[in-house]
Amino acid sequence: MNKYRVAVVNSKSFGAGSPDLIEKLRQYAEVDFLDVGKALRGRQLAEALRGYHFVVASVTPTYDAEFFKHQRELLLIARHGIGVDNICIEAATVEGVMVARVPGFKERDAVAELAVALALAVIRKVSLSHQLVKAGKWSERGRIIGFNVAGKKVGVIGLGNIGSRVAEIYSRGFNAQVLAYDPYVKPEDAARCGARLVDLDTLLRESDIITIHVPLTESTYHMIGEREFSKMKDGVVIVNTARGEVIDTQALTKALESGKVSGAGLDVVEGEPIGSEHPLLAFENVVITPHIGANTREGLRGMAESNVDAIIRVIRGEPPSEYLVNPEVLERGTRAKLTAPSGKHPPPG
Ligand code: NAD
Repeated sequence: MNKYRVAVVNSKSFGAGSPDLIEKLRQYAEVDFLDVGKALRGRQLAEALRGYHFVVASVTPTYDAEFFKHQRELLLIARHGIGVDNICIEAATVEGVMVARVPGFKERDAVAELAVALALAVIRKVSLSHQLVKAGKWSERGRIIGFNVAGKKVGVIGLGNIGSRVAEIYSRGFNAQVLAYDPYVKPEDAARCGARLVDLDTLLRESDIITIHVPLTESTYHMIGEREFSKMKDGVVIVNTARGEVIDTQALTKALESGKVSGAGLDVVEGEPIGSEHPLLAFENVVITPHIGANTREGLRGMAESNVDAIIRVIRGEPPSEYLVNPEVLERGTRAKLTAPSGKHPPPG
């Protein structure tokens, strides 16, 4: 029997299409797939995950300070994704737990391409058109009118790994003018992906399409609310593949009702997963996908490879250096016994 146990929590897509990677992991550890309530927290969550040395974490539940205090066997928590907003990194570090995530480039193309797909689905009313045809209403095609992306202004909020790829696609593929708001990016880096840095107000005022790619932090929580919608162009299209909580949902609902926002393409929704009664689903110009941004064959394989590699490294006594979100834990002391030197290793073949 393996000494180590891995819990894959609330993730249906971990290892999907890559059974060889799960098999590889099973050579080192027992692997269980578990579902827990998305609201489970702290001590109760620690109880539910008692006995596991590794957690592969989805976007739910939230792993808070109480969880790390009470789950004493955990050595490493690996996010099956990029965003680590549902993990209290500080508490993990204090408790000697390593936090790993998927390196951004593994998901970059997949998420960027979905962001553009969502924009086009909304602008060209793809979903609505399909419903018409299915309902035998081909003759109503005259009411399906979109607009060209060519020559329009696209505002990218957050010009990091994914936002920069979105900017490239719009500027090079669509000949759109790309404006970007990101206080941490240099103008020359923005120019390299075809974007011009502007302040947030300018972006809100001038963009025909606004596409959101910031991490969820204290400063980005509800960063797009009533005030921001009021500054936007009438008929603007909103796309969000970052985190639902970056947009104030009530404000978005009002902006859709008033026509200020002509449509929204969302891969993430505040409080997800949402049910079929969610108010945003009542709008025919809103397209929602269930957080599938990284769900391409290539994206999912890259994600599973990263998580599996990080876990196996720790079992072998090596630090999972390039995946670590809290490298300072190596200085403070980890619960895992790491015997091999720190350093970069190539991903597994
Ligand atoms: P990243 O860290 O490379 O880029 C984020 C960018 O946002 C950075 O350039 C940063 O400077 C900028 N930023 C931070 N705070 C800002 C602020 N207040 N205003 C403007 N810009 C700000 O991250 P990434 O890999 O591009 O991913 C972005 C986010 O997308 C992730 O944090 C994650 O939440 C989300 N994501 C979603 C999916 C999905 O499946 N839908 C998949 C991967 C990532």
